Amino acid sequence: MLCDFHVHTDFSADSKTPIRDQIEAAIKLGMKEICITDHHDYGTSGMCHLDYTVDPVTYFAALKDLAEEYREKIQIRSGIELGLMIREKEYLNELVKTIPADFIIGSNHFIDGYDVFDKKFYYDNGYTVPGTDHQAYHRFFEASLERVKTFDCFDSLGHLDYVVRYGPEKNANYRPADYMDVIDEILKVLITKGKSLECNTAGFKYGLGHTHPYEEILKRYHELGGELLTVGSDGHRPHEVGGYFDQAREILLNCGFRYYTVYRERKPVFLEL
Ligand SMILES: [Zn+2]
Ligand SMILES: [Zn+2]
Repeated sequence: MLCDFHVHTDFSADSKTPIRDQIEAAIKLGMKEICITDHHDYGTSGMCHLDYTVDPVTYFAALKDLAEEYREKIQIRSGIELGLMIREKEYLNELVKTIPADFIIGSNHFIDGYDVFDKKFYYDNGYTVPGTDHQAYHRFFEASLERVKTFDCFDSLGHLDYVVRYGPEKNANYRPADYMDVIDEILKVLITKGKSLECNTAGFKYGLGHTHPYEEILKRYHELGGELLTVGSDGHRPHEVGGYFDQAREILLNCGFRYYTVYRERKPVFLEL
């Protein structure tokens, strides 16, 4: 069983699962190492009705205690999923100097003042015309590129094509090739900066039938020389931990990868797929 490096608990506004339940689920699966990565989307109040921030001190203290308690059964790494927003650049750069994180996911959940989850992102902007989400998706990738260029405060780029989970047409008309000019740039920036790309298996549970990102983007990353790759379920409930990891492993092997990456004290460690 691959190590799950994207797991949420009740420290995240959209999960009710106590940390212990996620840890116990991983142990049952025979997982040797897990990283808890709760949401911290600082500066998004007013853009959504939930508070997607944690108190970093309380959060990391809780993770440290549990890591100690469970050390004989599973290695628990302390992670966080940071929402990347350029206007919060100073805050985020300062924050990462103060938190004892093993691993930081950089994610794009909010674009142009909108929650990508919210249909308003697609309609208020006039992006979505019947039959295509192309403009909204293009905007999402453009914003993601700008952010990976701007930020160094993360280790792995979370769910690169996250927007297809929530677009009105979802992935019905989504072809990565239509955006590959921008996506290629994102992948090249990650490689140049020594950042990981995440293979996020949640696309399966959302009924999309693929990982985030799509297999052809993972393949392209490999072709471009990308080696740093983390794997995460984005599980918010115990039965979602390690979800679809067998499929992910097959996909990654098929793309040419032989190793994936875990992080300890923000340093990548390669493990065999
Ligand atoms: Zn996310
Ligand atoms: Zn997540």
